Amino acid sequence: MPASTKLAHLLIAFIFAAFFWPIAIDAQARGRGGRPSQAESRNLRGVLGGVPMTEADSAIKEIVDLLDFESYKSLIRGLTEFGDREQGTPRNTAAVDWIEQTLQSWGYETARIHYDYMPRGSDVTEPREEVYATLVGATSPSEMYLLGGHMDGRGSGQAANDDASGTALVMEIARALASPGVTSARSIRFALWNNEETGLNGARAYVEQRQSLQGIEEPAGSGRYPEPRWLGMVQHDMMLWDHGNPVTHTQALDADVDIEFQLNSEMADASAQLALALLNSNRMFATDYPAVMSNAMSNTDSGPFQDLVAAVSLRENRRLYETGNGANPHWHQPTDLFVTFSDDDFRLGFNAAQTTLGAVARLVDARVKR
Ligand SMILES: [Zn+2]
Repeated sequence: MPASTKLAHLLIAFIFAAFFWPIAIDAQARGRGGRPSQAESRNLRGVLGGVPMTEADSAIKEIVDLLDFESYKSLIRGLTEFGDREQGTPRNTAAVDWIEQTLQSWGYETARIHYDYMPRGSDVTEPREEVYATLVGATSPSEMYLLGGHMDGRGSGQAANDDASGTALVMEIARALASPGVTSARSIRFALWNNEETGLNGARAYVEQRQSLQGIEEPAGSGRYPEPRWLGMVQHDMMLWDHGNPVTHTQALDADVDIEFQLNSEMADASAQLALALLNSNRMFATDYPAVMSNAMSNTDSGPFQDLVAAVSLRENRRLYETGNGANPHWHQPTDLFVTFSDDDFRLGFNAAQTTLGAVARLVDARVKR
């Protein structure tokens, strides 16, 4: 064989290998079923990472498993039926009533905060209301964790992501904890703030009115604590969309739950510990998306709590560096609709619910009786 023919054969073999090698690898990665869906590849990746579970972890997992993805979605849908629920509108008032009735349908006693709000450009205050429900602790009813989301929105759409997604998350945790056989040593309060979009007025009113009532038994000797002592506050605001920045069509491959605390606050140490508890819970109990922790919590209802008690916020993105720089094109827009989001998006919010419930169930010592 002349040297030139040999070289030609070698060249053909090389081209053949170069062309088919990546296809062979790709086929191997896909397995026999063809290309996996994005949700399947998330499950394959998993966030659990083989973390071994103790018996105590398994008991917490039983509580986290009470959360239901379809129920979470249907609660978001229910809220979006009231449109953007902008404060001061009849659709806002109707949504507050619906939230209260839904919480009561699961067996909760509810209460309302009444406060005055002065609309922009007006010099007359108007009355506003927001609702909360409480799971009363069986052995330590005088202590509680607060879980929050804001039920008001803006933008003339349905405020599905901002913040039906966080409101429904808190409601879905309330629904799960109302399941038969669930007990909790400490109390948990589910707070569905109003007037977040106008400057956190609902959460501020709660802190102003109730801070000094903490831990007081009323009436004396009754065993009832209308305002249990605050142990921590976990806020949920914009939970679905992490499509990267610049924004892509689907959930980004590195989509995650962002847990933020405020380093520049009186309770930074305790807040970082609470954030860490949530991070560990995510590793243990979240099924599809990881969580990361950072220290610049801002513009959310946990702000009024941050100098008083451990306070953290869960979001689809970091508020200042990502959301504030255009990471969500539907933010406060008419396109913030239920139909804008896919199951991959809803699942990010659901993973945040798993993250919060896993951490808080441990902190309040919740159990399911078998
Ligand atoms: Zn919001």
